[in-house]
Formats: sequence, structure tokens, C-alpha cells
Amino acid sequence: MRRLRRCKIIATLGPASANPAMVSALFHAGADLFRINMSHASHDQMRNQVEMIRALQEECGRPIGILIDLQGPKLRIGTFKNRVVRLAKGDKFIFDSNPVPGDESRVCLPHHEILLALKAADTILIDDGKIRLHVTETNGKRAVATVDVAGEVSNRKGVSLPDTEIPVSSITEKDRADLEAGLEAGVDWVAVSFVQRPDDVAEVKKLTRGRALVMSKIEKPQAISRLDEVVEISDALMVARGDLGVEMPLEKVPGLQKRINRMARRFGKPVVVATQMLESMIKAPVPTRAEVSDIATAVFEGADAIMLSAESATGAYPVEAVTTMNKIAEEVERDSYYRSIINAQRAPPEATNADAIAIAVAARYFAETLDLKAIVAWTSSGATAFRIARERPEAPVLALTPNRETACRLALVWGVHAVVTKDAHDVDDMSKRACKFAGREGFAKAQERVIIVAGVPFGTPGATNMVRIAVLDADSK
Ligand code: PEP
Repeated sequence: MRRLRRCKIIATLGPASANPAMVSALFHAGADLFRINMSHASHDQMRNQVEMIRALQEECGRPIGILIDLQGPKLRIGTFKNRVVRLAKGDKFIFDSNPVPGDESRVCLPHHEILLALKAADTILIDDGKIRLHVTETNGKRAVATVDVAGEVSNRKGVSLPDTEIPVSSITEKDRADLEAGLEAGVDWVAVSFVQRPDDVAEVKKLTRGRALVMSKIEKPQAISRLDEVVEISDALMVARGDLGVEMPLEKVPGLQKRINRMARRFGKPVVVATQMLESMIKAPVPTRAEVSDIATAVFEGADAIMLSAESATGAYPVEAVTTMNKIAEEVERDSYYRSIINAQRAPPEATNADAIAIAVAARYFAETLDLKAIVAWTSSGATAFRIARERPEAPVLALTPNRETACRLALVWGVHAVVTKDAHDVDDMSKRACKFAGREGFAKAQERVIIVAGVPFGTPGATNMVRIAVLDADSK
């Protein structure tokens, strides 16, 4: 089974879709990877969903990716005596550490490190930015603020602090427990929420110890200001436009999406565009024209993946949402402008690991100039396939790997069709089986040629040092 598009689709599972029949329907409609949101799923639910996906994978013989999304340090205010208060523009309002229920003058902010970090003039946003205040005085134990945008505030609403670097790790105790449970269940990717600095990602990588790859959700201005360092340490990025649009002015989000995309490409890291891609399809079977255009923009940008959140988790039309994304991505990739736009965005090769990157560049070049039907990458860790995908070649990419984990991780990566097979034992075997799989998977026919990229000696992760052009036998399919 081969997808007819390079951009991958991620579907979030939830009450509307977390059952075997729906998971199968979403996969057949085009979902390449499933996201389990640990803000909502219990460990039992997560394990159950992982089992469902792996059972489907066995049944259809194709690798399917699984991403768990850690909740991160979601800040919340405490409660109010009368459940809700109305704050008017110009009102003075205090955030303190007193757990007593609040009123029109104050509320508890049960995070003492935040009270210590707040400075005069910092913005405080409540309830996804619906209410906005700015700090006028602080003494480390309480922060006095003035209301700039009025509204109703009720118990335990979320708080965002776009101007304040929060001096705590973006990994909470809950995240640690969720991460360990996810790794034990065998997930492929872990998304870290509210990343502020490279150390946040380093901490998760240390806990993960290579058992899954780590994706940084870019949703805080602090991560944007150190974007190159965050990209360098991450295995992939997500443009988490929901919280990004709360913490940054909404009109900046499209430009940031482009910047994150380009930076990710430069470093050869997959990038996911997420949130509200088909928001109206939570309730309606057809999208708006603007949503179609938004998805098309992400595909024209060469994003590795586009993501559905509530549309597939709680919406009334999960399968229709995946089908819609699939149709749009396929159509954009057939568009006569697509190739020229993708080529124009290609980043010059980085100096680090220059040999391996030069080989990926050369493979694309050979495939284009010699009309080779596919680039076949033998890869144990997936690194060779990541490098080839970075080049966004016109020829399809077939990754052959002895590791099921690698194949599932590659479900996220632009244009990569992964197949699990035992490792090649010598160069002839490598060549013969590359041709066999290129034929079997529908990439090339008898007498057509493919280019093979590999690392020798076989099974050494990270080494990409060999290219070979091979012709499919006359009796190949
Ligand atoms: C987002 O904020 O865009 C996002 C993807 O994160 P979450 O769904 O956890 O809010």
C-alpha cells in the first residue's frame, strides 16, 4: 500500500476515534501517524490505543507511527468563592499564593516559582488570551496587575505568560510518568509541550534514551528566540499554532510558521504544522475555503506532516477530515507550481556531517538527471532517510530497514515509504533486494533504474557513505 503524496497526515485519537474500526478507517483514509494527547488520555487508554494501532499495523503490513504529546507545565489559577468573577478594564487584580478561594480583587496562582519570576510590565493572559492583564508591582510572593482586556474568569482557567521565562523545566512529574508509560508501550515519537530552551529538550532526550524520537512543540516566544538551538537538539518540530497564537500576536503566526519550517529544513529535521487545520469539520462534513487554503500552504511549504487535533479526536467527522486532508495534499503535490516552490525553498547543505549530506544531495541530483525511478535508502537508525528527505527529491524515497521502530519513526518524514526487511549482508545483496522492493512496492518496473544509498559497513547507524545505480531485472514486476 503506497500513499500518493509526500506530506504525511497525523490524526489525534480521542473519544470520537479511539476504537479499532475508526483507527482502521482513519488509516485507510490517509492517516500515517496517530497522536495520543496525554492531556486527556489515561495510561490505560494510551496503552489500549497503542495496542489497537499495532494490531492494525500487523494486519495491513505497513508501519504506522505513534506520537504521544506530553501535557507540559500548563499553568492554572485557583478557584473563586462564587466560581466566576468579572474583571473590568483598568481593574487592579492580585495573583498570590494564598489557597483561599478568590474574588474580584485576587486569586491564587499556585506556582510559587512563577510569582518569583514575574516582573513589572509582564503580560498575564487568562483563558487562551481572552483576558489580558499587565503586572504593575511584584514582591516575589504576589503580583499586582491591571486589566487591559476585560472578561469573565472562572475556576482553574489556564494562564499564559508570554513575556516571562519560567524557571522550571517543561517536564512535570505527570509528564515523566506519562513518558515512561508511553516508552514502555512502545511509542515512536514524544512531543514536548511549552519548550522554552534547548535544555528542556535535552532533559526529555536523557529520559528517553533513544527509545523514541523527541519532537519540540514551538509555542512559546522563548523557544522562538532560541529557535536554532532548539531545532538543533530536537529530532523534529511542531508548529503548535494553538498556544503559539495565544503567546504571540496571531498575525505573527503565519510568518513564524514559515520561519520554523525553513529552519527545520536547514537542519534536516521533520516539521509538523498543527492546530485548527480543519476546525470547522469538527461540526461540518465539508471544510471552509480558508481551511483548504491553509492546508495547501503547509503542503506547498514542504511540511513533513499536517495534523488534526479535535477534528479527529472529538469531532463529528473524523474520517471525512482525514479524507479531506489527503485529497488536498495529493492535489497540491500534483499542482504545476508545487515542484518549483519546493525547489526554491531548498536549504544549502550544512557543513556538519558533510559527507553524508553530500551523498544525499548527489542522490537527488543523479535521480533527477538520470531519470532514476526511486531513491532507495538502506537505513538502520533512519538517519540516511532523514537526510534524503531534507533534499525534498522529486523521485520517491524507499527506506529499507531491519528495525520496525525505525520504519514507524519514518512515518513522520516527508516522502519516505519505509519497509522492514532483514539487513543486507553485502553490496550485491543490498542492490538486488533494493531492486526487488522497488519493483514490489510499485516504484519501478523491469529495466528501470533506481539509486541506492547506504552506509557501509552495514548496520552502522549514522554512516551514509555509498551510492550505487542499479537496474531492475527483466522479470521484475
Ligand atoms: C497547540 O497548542 O497548537 C497544540 C498542538 O498543543 P495542544 O493541542 O496540546 O494545545
